[in-house]
Amino acid sequence: MKDISVVIPLYNEEESINELYAWIERVMVANGYSFEVIFVNDGSTDGSWEVIEKLHCENPERVKGIKFRRNYGKSPALYCGFKEAQGDVVITMDADLQDSPDEIPGLYKMIIEEGYDLVSGYKQKRYDPLSKTLPTKLFNATARKISGIKNLHDFNCGLKAYRKAVVKNIEVYGEMHRYMPYLAKNAGFSKIGEKVVQHQARKYGESKFMGWNRFVNGYLDLLTLWFLSTFGKKPMHVFGFLGSIMFFIGLLSAFGIGVDKLWCLANHIPQRLVTNSPWFYISLTMMIIGTQLFLTGFVGDLISRSSQNRNDYQIEEELKS
Ligand code: UDP
Ligand code: MG
Repeated sequence: MKDISVVIPLYNEEESINELYAWIERVMVANGYSFEVIFVNDGSTDGSWEVIEKLHCENPERVKGIKFRRNYGKSPALYCGFKEAQGDVVITMDADLQDSPDEIPGLYKMIIEEGYDLVSGYKQKRYDPLSKTLPTKLFNATARKISGIKNLHDFNCGLKAYRKAVVKNIEVYGEMHRYMPYLAKNAGFSKIGEKVVQHQARKYGESKFMGWNRFVNGYLDLLTLWFLSTFGKKPMHVFGFLGSIMFFIGLLSAFGIGVDKLWCLANHIPQRLVTNSPWFYISLTMMIIGTQLFLTGFVGDLISRSSQNRNDYQIEEELKS
């Protein structure tokens, strides 16, 4: 059993690793924590792995390493690090020395003493280019709104602390590392807090997340999460409802056209063709789309009922004889 596991995903960060480890060790020893550091080498093409191997040889008890055969991304790296972690508190940080290990004791105390499930770092003063910080503001505002976690300013801070149960019960995949608090909340861990942390400019190398596609992907991921958490388990409730309404409106308008036609015929009023009325097309489209939506819901329900983890519920405690 350890007090703290530090999980560090890294991709081509050979210059920083030794410095980062020495700093972490200094902080841990000064505070008397037992700890392990898990480096997850996400398919680096530089000498990162050799540095980690050397560290492991020097401190076999404290340094663990996981090496991916290729670059999978930060989320898969975190996922594998989490599986390995044994500490009561699991802390994630970036390998680029932007996050300060001096924050560890404060984060640890918030989890252990104040009872938080997850504490996210908040880089109030950021040392990143404007092209990164500005879109991030917008991103965080949206994430707050959609996730309903109102008290977080910085969802995507690499420096976070988790109660062990949290990392063992959430599954981070794709690029979902941006939404760890949301994943935790969906799994039922509701005490989520924030701590203002120091942030440095990148010392070596350059950012691994550049370009505009990260915003597009970020928003799509947020939509997926929102959708999964609101009606992932019951697709029929959304699609079935929408489909039924549409079909009903279509049916009403078709009925209206029919009645109108019959009434005109009965009273010998000259009447144009049914196909000339806009309502004809409205009812046609509505009924087709309505049926499709309904079927989508039905198929979605079938899929969700046959999925492997359909009965995976988060059980916090059990009392048994
Ligand atoms: N990282 C990773 N796999 C990737 C990209 C990044 O493990 O495919 C790591 C990277 O080495 C760093 C952390 O994720 O430790 C955060 O990356 P970076 O500092 O480039 O992001 P930024 O701080 O610019 O948002
Ligand atoms: Mg960074």
